[in-house]
Amino acid sequence: MPRTNLEVAAALHELADLLEINGGDRFRTLAYRRAGDAVRGLGRDVATMTEAELTAVHGIGRATAGKVQELLVSGSIGLLEQLRAKYPAGVLEMTRVSGLGPKKALALHDALGVGSLEELEEALKAGRLRDLKGFGARTEENLLRALANHSREERRILLGEALGVAEEMLDGLRTIPGVERASYAGSLRRMRDTIGDLDLLAATSCPGEVVEAFGGLPNVGRVSAKGPTKASVLTRGGLQVDLRVVAPEEFGSALQYFTGSKAHNVKVREHAVRMGCKLSEYGLFRGPLWEQRIAAATEEEVYGALGMQTPPAPMREDRGEVELALRGALPSLVTVRDLRGDLQSHSVYSDGRRTVREMALAAAAKGYEYFAITDHGRNLSVVRNLSLEDIERQRAEVRALNEELAGRIVVLHGLEANIGMEGDLDYPDEVLAGFDVVVASLHHQLRGEREAMTRRVLRAIEHPAVHILGHPTGRMLPRRPASDLDMEAVCRAALAHGVALEINANPRRLDLKDDHAFLARQMGCLFAISTDAHSPRELDLMRFGVGTAQRGWVEAKDVVNTWPLEKLRRFLAKSPLER
Ligand SMILES: [Zn+2]
Repeated sequence: MPRTNLEVAAALHELADLLEINGGDRFRTLAYRRAGDAVRGLGRDVATMTEAELTAVHGIGRATAGKVQELLVSGSIGLLEQLRAKYPAGVLEMTRVSGLGPKKALALHDALGVGSLEELEEALKAGRLRDLKGFGARTEENLLRALANHSREERRILLGEALGVAEEMLDGLRTIPGVERASYAGSLRRMRDTIGDLDLLAATSCPGEVVEAFGGLPNVGRVSAKGPTKASVLTRGGLQVDLRVVAPEEFGSALQYFTGSKAHNVKVREHAVRMGCKLSEYGLFRGPLWEQRIAAATEEEVYGALGMQTPPAPMREDRGEVELALRGALPSLVTVRDLRGDLQSHSVYSDGRRTVREMALAAAAKGYEYFAITDHGRNLSVVRNLSLEDIERQRAEVRALNEELAGRIVVLHGLEANIGMEGDLDYPDEVLAGFDVVVASLHHQLRGEREAMTRRVLRAIEHPAVHILGHPTGRMLPRRPASDLDMEAVCRAALAHGVALEINANPRRLDLKDDHAFLARQMGCLFAISTDAHSPRELDLMRFGVGTAQRGWVEAKDVVNTWPLEKLRRFLAKSPLER
């Protein structure tokens, strides 16, 4: 990607972040963010485009095109510079401490010159906040506690957000001369649902220059530490990113070392020792003085020399994958390419933002064979939902669409039914039976006792019209916990009644979560990996659901939306299936 595109995208994203903190209106911040994504996705150098060409790009409006032109012509965006001056990177990080929103963080910065978490702690301990208007002794105490709690755990960010930042940083890294390969590692590469710090790895023979240039990438706000082969930076959005620079011939062993969980790495190293070898981030070694390096350039080479298959990164948690890899018996995990359709999505008939047709066209453009629109049933009263008349109207619309799009994609008329307090669903049985696909989900009163919650879900699973249990535990990251369910009982019932368990791909849900998916897979359950898209863009969230499924060792054959339409139809008809 041209370097200018990176810079422009980073500037637009930063503008969005800063406007949000500054209390700017949501649509404007959204517009800048979307425009930033659009520039990143451009196939050509943004610097060569006229303003008219820019506004013709989907996702770039006239106002944002103006900002892009301003940046290209003058080298900066006035509004962005104003906001940068107002909120340095350290102040952004401060706004994330609980009890210290944008206003207070800014007040501290202006009154005391406090511009980072470390300076905040110093100022607190020196009692400098006490006399400040709006603070006082109570705030001081609360802030000290909040700061202590603002540990790595607290600072974890969602997978979806982390991956976006990591890819932006990688794009930047790859533009630096001398960088031969670059990757993210750590819990992000293992696709954990939340991420602490971002770990990046680059292969080069000129480490010093790369470390130096890394600190100057467009979205780096502050370099917090720097050494000959590593650097820690704070992005302009306030996230910590750690870069390790290694020699090209050691890239594989370093990637292996920085990707696996501690438990996975310990187990692999123990195996190396049993073989009379030593494994480190620099390679696999043999000989009396470990002077003989047998493998290091690629991960496959390292695992291969250890007599193992290479476990996909999301499996590297020591859940038995090392033993299987040694026997050459790793499962073949589901991938994004295996998916033939998406089985949960919303349109303007409920809380979605686009028409059924727009959603179906977007699904067809992704190359899907089929696609289900599943708007909310009438018992979910907090959003617009399907009246009985709507159902008929929408069914006719779907029928017409299927004629129009014949040969391109098949649209299934679905419903996301709401599971009531007694496990009841939104409509009489004959109405439910009229849908091609019914997803049943919990949306309210999620805090009940385990027994009552499980009973609700089991009743829904037992309903003959239900095909898929949607976002089974109702959790919302980072704060709303999962409902207390007897997952074994849920899996058993799903298996018995031919109901697939959804792995909801939205990064705020990822529900089933990885260990529930792992349990369900062991019990032989079926899965549906669905985006729950409320707009065409959200159809792209699929990879997060797939990552979660991979963490649960889910194979393509057990995911109903990897099946050809004909087989899917047999599942939806609840006919016996050969697995
Ligand atoms: Zn839902």
